[in-house]
Amino acid sequence: QREEWRKLRDEATVSTDGVHVELAANIGTPNDVAGVLENGGEGVGLYRTEFLYMGRDKLPSEDVQYNAYKTVLEKMEGKPVVVRTLDIGGDKELPYLDLPKEMNPFLGFRAIRLCLDRQDIFRTQLRALLRASVHGNLRIMFPMIATLGEFREAKAVLLEEKAKLASEGVQVSEEIQLGIMVEIPSTAVLADQFAKEVDFFSIGTNDLIQYTMAADRMNERVSYLYQPYNPAILRLVKMVIDAAHANGRWAGMCGEMAGDATAIPLLLGLGLDEFSMSATSILPARSQISKLSRTDMEKLAAQALNMQTAEEVVALVQSIEG
Ligand code: PEP
Ligand code: MG
Repeated sequence: QREEWRKLRDEATVSTDGVHVELAANIGTPNDVAGVLENGGEGVGLYRTEFLYMGRDKLPSEDVQYNAYKTVLEKMEGKPVVVRTLDIGGDKELPYLDLPKEMNPFLGFRAIRLCLDRQDIFRTQLRALLRASVHGNLRIMFPMIATLGEFREAKAVLLEEKAKLASEGVQVSEEIQLGIMVEIPSTAVLADQFAKEVDFFSIGTNDLIQYTMAADRMNERVSYLYQPYNPAILRLVKMVIDAAHANGRWAGMCGEMAGDATAIPLLLGLGLDEFSMSATSILPARSQISKLSRTDMEKLAAQALNMQTAEEVVALVQSIEG
């Protein structure tokens, strides 16, 4: 099996009926890029920038960030790199920000909410990203977007920083795609409206599942409700992908579900364009997809969407695997 995976390293990811999808990797630091390339990653679908901010006693400077982003972009040699702006809060804390304790951190002051409030932090990161953009194929993604208003505000800040850099004579790429994570049900439901304004979606199922099922992703006692294959989740995923395609955008997924062997046939059938996962899952996923027909998986997904429970969906997928 390993031998077969190796051979797939430099191959495209194509279904038996000729449909291409992109397999990208989730990374946390520039050091992770070597593993992405070794495992045949076609891009970085999620660079979690939180790690730049964690494990230190103050905010990382613009130059520290610029160097990290530039390194990743250069090492990826023109392959797409989706960088997520700071997603702190929830399970990830930054002691030096001195934020008050909250009753419900996962529903609280985190990610884009914090960045729109602490614009000093946000603007520094955006400047570092914009400066780094000339070194590769940068895509910028905002986390935890709940409303169009938040997206528009964040985009306006980005454009302001871009204009400032231009007036300082600093080169910035004109090709940067701007997207959002879909992690909050309100955004999945309004995906048709968002799709008119964003360049892409990346579905963050780790959070989308917890918010849809109202089940804390860290709480063992409610883990039975954490159901990636629940038809409710599949329907939300479908809404996002269909909205993207109806507007000529692409849709990816960067939650754990994207690399899950049981989910992959369904996601292929729903029309997902980009699957972003841990680097070690890429070759197994490529091998799996190369044996599936997208037309058949469309039928499978259509059946799954009409099922009543997650258990039924799992049984359905297992029935095709034989
Ligand atoms: C997600 O929510 O699916 C995601 C990829 O983000 P994180 O796991 O970092 O919250
Ligand atoms: Mg998330």
